Amino acid sequence: MTIVGLDDTDSRERGMCTTYVAARIATRLRRTLDSDADPVSRILLVRLNPAVEYKTRGNAALAIHVDCDPDLAFSVARETLASLAETADERTHPGLVVADHDAGPASIPEAVARFAEQAVRDHLEIDDAREQCDRHGYRTWHAGDGRGRIGALAAVGAWRACSEWTYEYISYRDPERWGTPREVDPESVFAAADWGYPAAWDTVDRGESETVCVPHTPGPILHGIRGDDPEVVRQVAERIESEPVDSSQLFVTNQGTDAHLREGTIGDVRDGRAYRVDGRVATPPETRRGGHVFFDLMSPETGADPDETEREGTERLECAAFEPTKRFRDRVRSFRVGDRLTVCGEVSRGTLKLEKVAIRDLVRTERVTPTCPDCDRRMESAGRNQGYRCRECGTSAPTREERPLERDLEEGWYEVPPCARRHIAKPLVRGGFDAPTHPER
Ligand code: ATP
Repeated sequence: MTIVGLDDTDSRERGMCTTYVAARIATRLRRTLDSDADPVSRILLVRLNPAVEYKTRGNAALAIHVDCDPDLAFSVARETLASLAETADERTHPGLVVADHDAGPASIPEAVARFAEQAVRDHLEIDDAREQCDRHGYRTWHAGDGRGRIGALAAVGAWRACSEWTYEYISYRDPERWGTPREVDPESVFAAADWGYPAAWDTVDRGESETVCVPHTPGPILHGIRGDDPEVVRQVAERIESEPVDSSQLFVTNQGTDAHLREGTIGDVRDGRAYRVDGRVATPPETRRGGHVFFDLMSPETGADPDETEREGTERLECAAFEPTKRFRDRVRSFRVGDRLTVCGEVSRGTLKLEKVAIRDLVRTERVTPTCPDCDRRMESAGRNQGYRCRECGTSAPTREERPLERDLEEGWYEVPPCARRHIAKPLVRGGFDAPTHPER
């Protein structure tokens, strides 16, 4: 099997899309080979570390698995890349890596699989890619500074590196229409989304009445339907009424798998990586300008007692639910100091950008200034560390009293809505979580 890895062909302003380039290469290879059986066994759409600064949008890299001579694949891919890649944009640095391996994932060298894992969770250098390509005798081509070879090599390694795959069925527009408003009937999208759910997910956002599957950027994509079942995503796409579809392609992808998340602790997280972190809410959630909601997380070992949370020197991690996460912010605003959580998201400038949260343990009581049992009035502090006293009758109480707290949250996982979902983040509806889930749709 020949694996054609490619990346970095698009530009934010001019609008191309590496999925389209890959689909074009696959079509040209099919035409050239003209065999009865489809020589292309699959096309992988691999989402790499979403924190990488060089990305145009979703940090996607592509790999075509094709049964043909690697030299032929290389020349077809290079020609297509050179003609379609937006090299006029100085931030576009296309890369192509062609490998020749047996069909099974195990035939891909371990080091290349490791490279793919790192590309999803970490930061790599162009030299790292160049070295690996040389070592394994891969054919390569690039333009610009050739940064695209990082993603292209990662896409080659992904077949072995990733253990979980989902699907996206992408429909493309007639090139004449690129850059013009898309004609898609929203009602048919909502109906198709209902029909396909939950095997197809993130097609729409009901809360925001948004057709999430239809992009707003100027590129060639009309809509992309994501899900767990290749047949369902195809049928959802076919149920959508729209302008004519020029071509379509099914991709096998690591979208919706949380492949970017690694385990972390409050003290050891680093910028540019994404984590799962356990902790307790240390400060009341605060809504700041722009509607972003912030709170601090502290070590899970700290007790739930608010007095304890005020202790100096406890390590903190700021967490944020940004405005685009919409209704998810209401959940976050309901957190109380002492709630025990698992937070997930990318750390950027020391702040974890929340993608999903598990509520492990909710604070169910609060401690308040005691009420006098004799005259039913609120007591007052009798001085530092001297408890409380009733001004009327002199009755005293040693500490604050506990009273039950009404919570409108339940234990379990909460997530940002589909309109705010990162491509690689796993929707709760996919299941496999370690606590009850509260999926958004
Ligand atoms: P689109 O989603 O529209 O296809 P994109 O967001 O995928 O665009 P690219 O144009 O592919 O963005 O740019 C990402 C660049 O970053 C590529 O050159 C890729 O090789 C490189 N890159 C990807 N992952 C890493 C990583 N982990 N470390 C360093 N560079 C990376």
